[in-house]
Amino acid sequence: METILKAESIRRTYSIGKTTLDVLKGVSLEVRIGETVSIMGESGSGKSTLLHVLGGLDTPKEGTVHFKGQSVYGMSSARRARFRAESVGFVFQSFHLLPELDILENVALPAMAMRSAGDAKKRAKDLLEEVGLGSRIGHRPQELSGGEQQRAALARSLMNEPDLVFCDEPTGNLDSKTGDKVLHYLFQLVADRGHTLVLVTHSKDVAERCSRQLFLKDGLLI
Ligand code: ADP
Ligand code: MG
Repeated sequence: METILKAESIRRTYSIGKTTLDVLKGVSLEVRIGETVSIMGESGSGKSTLLHVLGGLDTPKEGTVHFKGQSVYGMSSARRARFRAESVGFVFQSFHLLPELDILENVALPAMAMRSAGDAKKRAKDLLEEVGLGSRIGHRPQELSGGEQQRAALARSLMNEPDLVFCDEPTGNLDSKTGDKVLHYLFQLVADRGHTLVLVTHSKDVAERCSRQLFLKDGLLI
């Protein structure tokens, strides 16, 4: 299978006052189209940092990320913003829905710049139906349960048919039953549409549902 994402020798440090924290110490990773990759690791091991670097959200101190052969951090920032909008979907632990918009508007929002409003809303409605929220489209996020909000966030992440879906502990704020339901939809949508998935999780069971399991330890992937 063809490589879609290739990270080489990624280093990321955080400087706090005079101390420097070496979070990623030379991480390399190659992901092929259609793969589902899980990343586990202790809290504070740099999983979120790595996901942000891979998704074009955080420039590494050293190393390169290539998406379909193009250097993500070699692009202009405008081009990189377009890469994120068109090719990447993110699901975070805290759902990051906008409270002043209803669920349909939240999900349609990422596509508003690229499609007509009517098209965007039609696609958003279809996706919301697929995650079992077809009857909740007019509700505000705060009127939904945590699991429902995360299912809406999942629908939003797929709005632009991204090549890559990054999920950062998507069930971390949910009880296990609710979390299982979110994961059911996640894995089903990813399989149906052939998205490539990189998933950070604390759960060995969830990691084992992916085609490849990686661990982040002492700043390196093993
Ligand atoms: P994980 O997602 O595995 O829990 P993170 O990538 O969030 O880990 O963080 C890795 C380490 O980097 C942690 O020690 C964290 O405190 C630190 N860190 C993360 N973001 C920042 C930041 N913006 N400034 C300083 N330190 C940070
Ligand atoms: Mg994290």
